[in-house]
Parts: sequence; structure tokens; C-alpha cells
Amino acid sequence: MELDRQPVRSEYRLNEDNELRLEIGNEDVIVELVEGVAEVFGTPLAVHKRYTFPPGFRCSIFTYQGALVEIIGKTESAYIATQTPMAIYLNTHYGLEMHRQIALKKLAMGDLTARGPRILLTGPMDVGKSTVSRILLNYAIRFGHTPIYVDLDPGQGQISIPGTVSALLVCKPADIVENFDRTSTLAFSLGSTSPALNIEYYKHLIQTVANLVDEKCAFSPRINASGVVINTCGWIKDSGYHALLVASKAFKVDIVVVLDNELLFNNFKKDLPNFVKIVHEPKSGGVEVRSTAQRAASRNRCIQNYFYGTKHSPFHPFTIEFSYAKSEEEQELYIARVGTDKLPDSCLPFGMTVEDHRTKVVRVSIDSSLKDKVLALMPANAAIDQSLISTPAIGFIVITDVDVEKKTFTILSPQPQPLPTRLALYTDVSFIDDS
Ligand code: ADP
Repeated sequence: MELDRQPVRSEYRLNEDNELRLEIGNEDVIVELVEGVAEVFGTPLAVHKRYTFPPGFRCSIFTYQGALVEIIGKTESAYIATQTPMAIYLNTHYGLEMHRQIALKKLAMGDLTARGPRILLTGPMDVGKSTVSRILLNYAIRFGHTPIYVDLDPGQGQISIPGTVSALLVCKPADIVENFDRTSTLAFSLGSTSPALNIEYYKHLIQTVANLVDEKCAFSPRINASGVVINTCGWIKDSGYHALLVASKAFKVDIVVVLDNELLFNNFKKDLPNFVKIVHEPKSGGVEVRSTAQRAASRNRCIQNYFYGTKHSPFHPFTIEFSYAKSEEEQELYIARVGTDKLPDSCLPFGMTVEDHRTKVVRVSIDSSLKDKVLALMPANAAIDQSLISTPAIGFIVITDVDVEKKTFTILSPQPQPLPTRLALYTDVSFIDDS
């Protein structure tokens, strides 16, 4: 009987260039590299360190040289794959590394404008774009660089929460489980997880982040030489494709990697200038193809973690109630949004184009439709004007309740009262706080 309570232990012997693909079920699983050298998406595993992989976690443990891995606990699935595209991704890294070395040489010779590689990863949904971005960033760090990670996918929120477009200076490898340290992420709220809902604003944010990246690179030649890795969303048709062309131009990319889509690869060859190198690479067989429900669950988990942290480093958010019965000037928190209903041409003020309504900033009145909506907090000195469309968020809150009788609303906030600002930006991203 006692034996039944022993956790399941399994050992996996990996040969050169093999990977152990893992999917964790409902319980934590302990993973230990017993011997050899192995990594998770470019982050090396320490030998004999025990890593806890939480429920729902999915990854691969890859080895170039061979390794022995022990798993304690029951996984949803675990198998060794002998065919992986890792050699191709490593090759891409070496291509980027050559570019960085040239930039560093120029820098040493006094050329302070020497630029490292700027790579854009694209392809349909679920081809491993975020994962390859992570691998390339980790390898860059391991080679002593400090690249910038730009995430143009508001659907998942790799370095901020879903509904944002963001950038992060990467200074250390990603944590095996928690991914990159997001504390200094610069996130712009798009207001939705789908760029299609406001493509004008999405393109504006792409250009805004690109300008900031340029400023950062002009300020630090080392960062400039390290380059930029740009992750994109899986919307590759029509306006989505056009947004990718806008991004390539805005970030002045020199290499575009198309994962698993010949048509997209050929379209880029036609539409991008000759100096941009376009390569087609295969996706890994380990990439999970997610259903709409799984995507929604993953978004929810990401927002949940923003407020509550993880089991291993929990946060304790605050519940705050505000009255909206007060006059506009006295309200402790007021809300704006980007985009209004389309105005008929005849009503447009002089000089305004039809498209402008999509990036127009307006005040939002509080009502029950705001319940469960995520809001982006704007800086303390921000006011309701057009500058908000180019202003990064300083944090996020959720409206958990609106009492129209009492004219109060309740928020979930990582910070206690008083909030650092009185102005928040509306998003149509929902989060139901059932913790
Ligand atoms: P995309 O960015 O194209 O939507 P992701 O990089 O987010 O795709 O990958 C989708 C999922 O597949 C993620 O959960 C990721 O951890 C998982 N994944 C990617 N590569 C592998 C692999 N080689 N083995 C196991 N899981 C993988």
C-alpha cells in the first residue's frame, strides 16, 4: 500500500540532438538533469537542480551533446523526439551572431551607429514563433549580448498581458518556467487581443514601439549592436499581412524568418526590399496546436498570474471601491478609450480623415458593461488627449464590479490605495476574477 504513494519516477536518456517533449497534467512534476547538458528553449538546465513544472506547462528539454533527465511525478505526455529543427534555429543564431560581431567591430573602430541584426519572426498561429524568439534571445544573451525583444502579438502577451504591444530589454536568460523577467517591460495597450478590431491603432503602436527602440539604440551602442528580435501574431492575411509589412519597415528589419508557410514566404519575397533577407524555416513537431478555448484559457492564466503571481511566487492584489457619483474633476479614477464610432463624412471637422475616429481618444462613462474589463493605467501626469495613443501603460487593473444603484465600482489592483494615477485606458479584454 505504501508503495502506491511513491511518486512515479522515470528516466529519459537523450542522445545528441534529441529533445524530450513534455506536457504537464494536473499536478506539479519535478524535473532534474542528472547528467549531460540540456536546455529548455535556449535556457540551460543546471545539473542536479530540481525544477518544478506546474500544471498545464509544456516544453521540450533539448540536448546538443546528450543528457539523462529524471522526471518525478505523472506527466500528461512525455516522449523523446529525434527529429527537431533546432540545428536550423542554431544556424539562424550564428547568422545573427556574425552580424553582431561586425557591428561590434565597427563600434570598436568608433562607429557609434553600428547596428546589430533586426529579425522578424512570422508565420501562422501555432508554428512556434514565440518559442523561436525565446531561443534566439537566450542564445544572444549566452553570447554576451543584450538584445531587445519586441512582442507584436496582443493575442498572448509573452512579456506583458494580452491586449498589449510591448518591448523588453533582455539582460538575462528566460527562467525555465516563468519565461523572461517582465519587470521592465514597456507595454502599450491596444485595447483588444485582436489587431483586426483596430488595425489603424495597431499600426500606430507598431511605429511607436519602433521609434522607442530606435531611441534606445541611439542611446546605447551596445544595445544597438545586440539587435532586435520581433515576435508577431499569426494573422498573416489581408490587413494582417499589411501590418507585417508595416512592422518590417518600421523596425528596419534585415531578416524575416517565415515559419511553415510557403505562400507567406513568397509574398514577402515579392513585397519586401532586396536588402531584407527572407528565409523559410520548418516548425517543430512539438509545437502545440491550440484550440480557441485553449488560447482563451492561456490568456486568462497570463492575466491571473499578473495579479496573483504563481504558486511559487504568489502576489496579493487589492480590492478597491470607487464612487463615480462625484463630479468629473473629483473622481478618483476616470476612464478613456482609443477609438470612437465612425462619424459620417459630413460631420467630420475640417482636416480630419475618416480613419481618424479609430485612434481618437474619448472619455468613457462608467456603466455595468465595464464589469470584468481590464484597464491599462496611464501615467500620473497623463490627461485625456491624443498623447494617450503613444503612452505606455504603468500597470493594469480589472473592474470586478459596477453597482449602478450606489454608483460605485470595484477594482482589482496590484497596488493598494492610493493608485499612482487617476486615469485608465479601457480595453475589451475580459478577466473574471474567481480566485
Ligand atoms: P506561436 O507563437 O507560433 O503561436 P508558440 O511558440 O507559442 O507558437 O508555441 C505554442 C506552444 O507550443 C507553446 O505552449 C510552446 O511552449 C509549445 N512548444 C513549442 N515548441 C515546442 C517543442 N519543441 N516541444 C514542446 N512544446 C513546444
